[in-house]
Amino acid sequence: MTHQVSTVITGIGELATNDPARTEQGGLLGLVSDAAVVLEGSRVAWVGASADAPAADVQVDAGGRAVVPGFVDSHSHLVFAGDRSAEFEARMTGQPYTAGGIRTTVARTRAATDEQLTAHVARLVAEMRAQGTTTVEIKSGYGLSVHDEARSLAVARQFTDETTFLGAHVVPAGTAPEEYVDLVTGPMLAAAAPHARWIDVFCEDGAFDVDQARAILAAGSDSGLRGRLHANQLTYGGGVRLACELGLVAVDHCTFLSDDDVAALASSGTIATLLPGVEFSTRQPYPDARRLLDAGVRVALASDCNPGSCFTSSMALCIALAVREMRMSPAEALHAATAGGAAALDRDDVGVLAPGTSADLVLLDAPSYVHLAYRPGVPLVAGVWQAGRPALAG
Ligand SMILES: [Zn+2]
Repeated sequence: MTHQVSTVITGIGELATNDPARTEQGGLLGLVSDAAVVLEGSRVAWVGASADAPAADVQVDAGGRAVVPGFVDSHSHLVFAGDRSAEFEARMTGQPYTAGGIRTTVARTRAATDEQLTAHVARLVAEMRAQGTTTVEIKSGYGLSVHDEARSLAVARQFTDETTFLGAHVVPAGTAPEEYVDLVTGPMLAAAAPHARWIDVFCEDGAFDVDQARAILAAGSDSGLRGRLHANQLTYGGGVRLACELGLVAVDHCTFLSDDDVAALASSGTIATLLPGVEFSTRQPYPDARRLLDAGVRVALASDCNPGSCFTSSMALCIALAVREMRMSPAEALHAATAGGAAALDRDDVGVLAPGTSADLVLLDAPSYVHLAYRPGVPLVAGVWQAGRPALAG
């Protein structure tokens, strides 16, 4: 047997575990004070009181600072080229801007080489990791051709197992919608499926309607992909109810919800993934997280990092927005950004710090996780361990 390097982090003033076994004493986050964690190989081996911590190969003293699980960002669009800062500036200054939009990104992405796309995703994933994100889902959706969707996913696959085929992002210019749905559910799906775990559809007026979304998700399911959905971002519609009816793990955005939508989410167990960076970046009304939580809906927070509607990679910003603008408690927001994101990816090995889970931890330069919301915009991440390895100095 090869020896696995072990690390003990002692002197953790406040440890958020998200461990259901610790919620009786530690609340929603399963908090432990004066805690220690032992990492062995890629896994958490032990959690408990700092005074009881066993010895390990490497010892790190947290000096009373807080440790939280690595963020699980369950919704991002990182495979693209170019940026749309001019479009953003026009939007923020009320200027008309006709040349922009997703089609600009599609053209730039198609023109980029595989090496350029890979380097760009690597840069963004490193940027996320430096801010505490240790698990990220990455979608395609700026290729919109058989070749470009498949290679977008092949690029994404180098960085995460949580890859999502989003050929049904928008109907490309010059293609009839029915023709494009046939392509997405036929040759494009066949080329994409080997590189993807999930399939997603932008179900919204002007993109894909409920019937098209249903057909695309069914085809994906036949190819072994699990469904997720962008729905009810811009208007009321049937997307959220479709997701609940199909028993999807998660439905994302959920900004415009009827009472029926909320009831469907509560009874189906489908997770509502809220993406407040989008509303922040587009000056739109935020989703009503309080209404969802009070109805018993499970909620996740994710960045939706993309070049058009929200180019932030900061989960801490999403937590701060969720608390300040969406009336989530700091504990609910951290839980949604960690265990919630994990649940939205149907994962129980991340987002929780307990023996056996992936050793993904963030050391905060703060005495409490509350500072993530209390000190918005301040870089509080002092150390990151990903699968047991230090990814950022502690
Ligand atoms: Zn999105």
